[in-house]
Amino acid sequence: MKSYREELWFNTPHRRGYINITDQVERVLDKSGIKEGLCLVNAMHITASVYINDDESGLIQDYDDWLEKLAPHDPVSGYRHNNTGEDNGDAHLKRQIMGRQVVVAVTNGKLDFGPWEQIFYGEFDGRRKKRVLVKIIGE
Ligand code: ZN
Repeated sequence: MKSYREELWFNTPHRRGYINITDQVERVLDKSGIKEGLCLVNAMHITASVYINDDESGLIQDYDDWLEKLAPHDPVSGYRHNNTGEDNGDAHLKRQIMGRQVVVAVTNGKLDFGPWEQIFYGEFDGRRKKRVLVKIIGE
């Protein structure tokens, strides 16, 4: 069995951001040379997510509005976590609901997606460098 590991780096200009990283993950898969196996993609930070959904018009703004309703950033004083002096209590909760990672089957050297599936990086406490791990195992 072969394995391959690579980190992708992001630094979103705003506190929250949503980036389609499908092409970047496909490039990592190509480099790995693995044709049959599994591809794990996970955020390496507890205030960011990796998730799969469609890259359809309006959907990213709908996610962002929904997450802000569930866990609004303001007032910052509304989160016990922010008593530590941080201001990212909401970002921890947003990450929890959007998830840490995805696993995609690798078949014939390609990500074996369902219809319209694409991989996204969701950032909830950005404006700094953060990483995503891509780990591929197989042969
Ligand atoms: Zn925090």
